[in-house]
Amino acid sequence: MATYDSNNIFAKILRGEIPCHKVYEDDIALVFMDVMPQSPGHALIVPKAPSRNVLDADPAVLAKILPLVQKIAIASKKAFAADGITVWQLNEPAGGQTVFHLHYHVIPRYDGKPLQSHSGKMEDAAVLKANADKLKAALT
Ligand code: AMP
Repeated sequence: MATYDSNNIFAKILRGEIPCHKVYEDDIALVFMDVMPQSPGHALIVPKAPSRNVLDADPAVLAKILPLVQKIAIASKKAFAADGITVWQLNEPAGGQTVFHLHYHVIPRYDGKPLQSHSGKMEDAAVLKANADKLKAALT
């Protein structure tokens, strides 16, 4: 398996070198909107500790991240009046991963509605900001 590359786009977001539509931040992770949402409100939970994915992650980080994934999933269901939530975490190109810094997808789902394509269409910044605000509000 390739080693972690600290120039990946999420590492740059974590360092503040690239902007994001931030939802939540603590010592463990940053949560922000996916710029190519597969459903409105698609969010990403990105642990601050460097690892490519779950295969090389510190188990201590994994133990801390899942409660946050749950918190965001519950807020997302409420914020976007979703029927369900898809939580995704992809590993290596063969597993569908495209950004090589560990992250979890939290995607609002609706009965009978298929997902839009992965890394498909870039969403308008105004829509991403509005959805970040909705998700933030549902967390408080
Ligand atoms: P994965 O294929 O699991 O690695 O997912 C990477 C996700 O990151 C995709 O859903 C992309 O739409 C999303 N993405 C790529 N670049 C950015 C970015 N600059 N800000 C937010 N999301 C991004």
